[in-house]
Amino acid sequence: MSNIAIAEQSLKPSKQEGKQEGKQEERLAEDFPLAQLREAFPALRQKNEQGAAIVYFDSAASALKPREVIDALADFYATDYANVHRSAHWLAERSTERYEGAREAVRQHLGAAKACEIVFTRNATEAINLVANCWGDLLARDCRRKPALAISMMEHHSNLVPWQRLAARCDSELLVIPINDAGEIDSEAYENLLKTNDVALVALAHVSNVLGTKNPIAELVATAHRHDTLVLVDGSQAVPHAPVDVRALDADFYVFTGHKVFAPSGIGVLYGKEQLLEAMPPWQYGGEMVERVSFRQASWNSLPWKFEAGTPPIAQAVGLDAALKFVRRIGIEAIEKHEQRLGEGMQQRLQGIEGLTLLGVARARAPIFSFALDGLNAFDLATLLDKQGFCCRAGFHCAEPLVRHYGLSGCLRVALALYNSEQECEAFVEALAKARTMLA
Ligand SMILES: *Cc1c(COP(=O)(O)O)cnc(C)c1O
Repeated sequence: MSNIAIAEQSLKPSKQEGKQEGKQEERLAEDFPLAQLREAFPALRQKNEQGAAIVYFDSAASALKPREVIDALADFYATDYANVHRSAHWLAERSTERYEGAREAVRQHLGAAKACEIVFTRNATEAINLVANCWGDLLARDCRRKPALAISMMEHHSNLVPWQRLAARCDSELLVIPINDAGEIDSEAYENLLKTNDVALVALAHVSNVLGTKNPIAELVATAHRHDTLVLVDGSQAVPHAPVDVRALDADFYVFTGHKVFAPSGIGVLYGKEQLLEAMPPWQYGGEMVERVSFRQASWNSLPWKFEAGTPPIAQAVGLDAALKFVRRIGIEAIEKHEQRLGEGMQQRLQGIEGLTLLGVARARAPIFSFALDGLNAFDLATLLDKQGFCCRAGFHCAEPLVRHYGLSGCLRVALALYNSEQECEAFVEALAKARTMLA
C-alpha cells in the first residue's frame, strides 16, 4: 500500500514549475515520476539466476503488472466475486456492477458512444476472430459479389490469418498494402488498391508490434470510407502508449488486448459501431448470450451480451478497470512523452551501432525497436543478453511475412514501456556490444 500512496502523491506533474524557458526537456524528465512508478511494479525488484537486475524490454509481448492491479484482483476475489448477471443475490449484484463498471471504464477510455459497443473477449485475437466470423457471416452470405479484404504488410498474425480464412471462405482475395522503406504504409498504394478493387474491409494495426510505426489511422479510415470500405483497427500496441478516441478515428471496429496495458491476461476488448454489431449474428452459443430458449430454438440477448457466451472473464475485467485507472492517473500524455524521449534516445544509440539494421524508422512511432546485427543469430544474442538481465524477444514476433520482407528469419526486439529508464537503454547498448564480440 505504501508504494501506491507515494506514487499517487507524486504522479501529478507540477504545472507551475514547468514553464521556465530552455528547461523544457529536463523538466519533462523530472516531472515523470519514474522512480515511484517503478516501485509500483513488484516484478522489477527481481534479479535473475546470475544475480543481474531485471531490465524488462518485452512489454510488446506482455506488460508487467502494477501492485494496484494485482491488489484489485485479490480484493475482488475476496469481496465482491460471484458469477455475473445470473443470480438474484446481493453478491452477484455487486459482482455484476463491477463487471459492467469495467465495461463503462473501457467505453470512456476509448471514447466510444455507448457501453453496448464494448464487447469483452479473451484477448485481441479473439476479438478479431469474432469480427472475421460474425461480420464475415454477413459477407459470406453475399458471396456472388466476392469482395476482397485487405491488410497491411505489417500485421500481426492475429490480424492476418483470420482474414486469410475469411477470404478463402468467400472465395475471394486478401490484398496486402505495401510499406515504404521507413516502414510506413504507402498511402498512395493504399488509395490505389481501394480504388481498383471492391474491398469490403481493411484491417490495420494502429501501431506495429515489430516496427513501432504509428499509422495515421484517422486518415487511413477516411480514405477507406470514401471507397465504402470498413476498417478494423488493431490497437493492441497503441492503447498502452497513446491516447485513443475511436470516434475521432471513426474506426468501425477497434480491438485491443488487456495484458499489454498492465491488466491481467485473459481479457480483450472489441469496440464496434452499434449498427454493425447489431447486424452481426452471434458466434458462440450457450448461457448469457440468449434471451429465450426452447428445445427447438433460441433468441439472442441484446448487445453486448449477444457476443459474450458463457461466464465471462469477470475478475480480468475488474483488473482491466484497475489498469486503465492506473494509466489515467499517470496520464497517457505523460506516458507518451516519457516514452517518446526514451525511444528517441534508444533509436539514436541503435542507429549509431555499425552493422545494425533497424527495421522501420517511421517518423511517428512507439518505442518498439526490432533489429538485426551483423547477421548474428537473434536467439544467440537474446540468450547472452538474458544472462545480463535483459528480457527481450527474438524471432518473428508473430509477424513472419513482415520480418521475411526484410530478408530476415528472425530479429531482436526491444520494446519499452513507461517503467523503463534512460540508464537501462544505455546499459543495453553496452551489453549488446559485449554480446557481439562474444559471438563474433
Ligand atoms: C499482441 C498483439 C496481438 C495479439 O494479442 P493477444 O493478446 O495475443 O490476442 C495482436 N496484434 C498486435 C499488434 C499485437 O501486438
